[in-house]
Amino acid sequence: MSASKKKLVLIFPPFTNVTAPPLGVCMLKGFVERTLPDWSVKVHDLNLDIHERIFSAVARGPIANSSIEGPLKEIALSRAADVFRGKNDQEFYTRPDRYTVYGNLFLELIDQQTLDFTAAVKSAFLSEERMPPLIEEYAEIILKENPEAIGVSLCFSQQLWVALCLAKVLKRRTKAKIIFGGAHFTAEIDQFMDRFANVIDYIVEGEGEMALVKLLKGEDPASIPGVYFMSDMVHSSTPKFEPKIDIFGHPDFSDLDLRAYFSPEPVLPVLTSRGCYWRKCTFCVHYLSSGFSYRQHTVAHIVEQLQGYVKMGIRHFSFIDEMISPHAFKDLADGILKAGLDIHYYALAKPVKQFDRQLLEKIYASGCRYILWGMESANERVLGLIQKGTETENVELVFQTAQKVGIHNHVYIICGFPTETKEEWMETLRFLQKNGGAISSIHRSPFSLEKDSPIYKAPEKFSITKVWSLGDTITDGRFRFECSSGMTRDEMNDIFMKSMPFLRAFNVYSPRLGNFRDHALLLYAKHGRALDPSKRVLPPLPFEYAEAEVLISSLLQQDSLSL
Ligand code: SF4
Repeated sequence: MSASKKKLVLIFPPFTNVTAPPLGVCMLKGFVERTLPDWSVKVHDLNLDIHERIFSAVARGPIANSSIEGPLKEIALSRAADVFRGKNDQEFYTRPDRYTVYGNLFLELIDQQTLDFTAAVKSAFLSEERMPPLIEEYAEIILKENPEAIGVSLCFSQQLWVALCLAKVLKRRTKAKIIFGGAHFTAEIDQFMDRFANVIDYIVEGEGEMALVKLLKGEDPASIPGVYFMSDMVHSSTPKFEPKIDIFGHPDFSDLDLRAYFSPEPVLPVLTSRGCYWRKCTFCVHYLSSGFSYRQHTVAHIVEQLQGYVKMGIRHFSFIDEMISPHAFKDLADGILKAGLDIHYYALAKPVKQFDRQLLEKIYASGCRYILWGMESANERVLGLIQKGTETENVELVFQTAQKVGIHNHVYIICGFPTETKEEWMETLRFLQKNGGAISSIHRSPFSLEKDSPIYKAPEKFSITKVWSLGDTITDGRFRFECSSGMTRDEMNDIFMKSMPFLRAFNVYSPRLGNFRDHALLLYAKHGRALDPSKRVLPPLPFEYAEAEVLISSLLQQDSLSL
């Protein structure tokens, strides 16, 4: 690298999942360095860094303010970090009892640290208090690179306050331009810019590659699609979406240690498309960052990327597209088979009847070991309101067939869609129980009203009579609502919590595989079809909820850790 090159530093702030490297910043690094020979790019994954610091602190002794105390828990946490990072494959792959305990403790600790650290940085940002020392240290690490521009990638709201604090410290100490972007920015960006213009120079809406390169080239920001900035008032323009996304090239992970993530083997994220081919689900905002567009990479491009990873010794992948259509899945599987790639992967899809036996066998043969299916509900009326474009009869057939060919089914469901009744929710649970032998894991969530979703924009169509914000709508997009029919929110919360023991019981290996998707892939790839869901004993319906809760917690306490 020439010393005369200008430097862009790209930051991925905490807190989010830490089992795999972030894709977006590595896509940007690859594209910028290929497009602008006079720029070099350095990626810092601060999310990984903070997790490493937390677990180093655990290894040294009790963490301040932690409710996780006691030598047994600290040792178990250190063991959890080691096992998750491949230092004890025997425990990871063959001791589901221990994996469950490790997963519980890991999440308990990280959730608590996320809450504590976020509260501290938010308070420091808003009150001019001294910043937490770690923020100052991160600023130092970035400034040592002598950057001319600093990009901050925000995918999740939990990253927001750390990112803002860091930007505030950097703004005081450097003239480098600070550019925010990422999937977090889908609504009210002008208000966000207006509010935080003292610490942010630009926000990029939509995909960042083209806009970032133009900003680095020094083009007039007013002429760059998708860029927000403050002159005397917020200036913005509509983003453009590149139709042929192969031109973005492959991501460049070279700044990151792929074996440092909390996964026994690297599982690399891959995008085969941008946007969603369906984009009709009424609760969804995921496709908004792609501006209602859907663009696919060519199969040749994806296969070339996978071949490159295989040469690096990496064989496990998460296809993190919003959804892969049956047609695109067939082409992808054909391409992988034709190239003779010995890989394992998982992907997200919608359970429609085109996923027939022939296609699912092909998908399995190409290395797919599980699919995350957006089922949402088994009730036809609710599915119609969601505009999912699926039918319960076909969903059942797809799950049964996929399980027979060896693919594990992970199933997303939503509790409390506006107007859903208790009986309709029970219909979903009965469907899950009936098809229990074909379902390996349930990913469940209570319905949450997302800003800018079709429901948010036309609440009256869903019998919503009142919507109010739980906080500051610019930084906290959580809303409450009331409906004129169906379960009240309290009834929904009650039935959801009571259903948890049943839902958690689905994963025969560990209920925590729902949280750690990359781990699920490694386990399924190792055990193949051996984890037979039909061996599961589910709580009966109707549930003895309280009894099931007691049963699960006593099982966790009885774990056979010999520490
Ligand atoms: S829920 Fe999935 S299939 Fe539906 S619009 Fe959103 S991304 Fe697309």
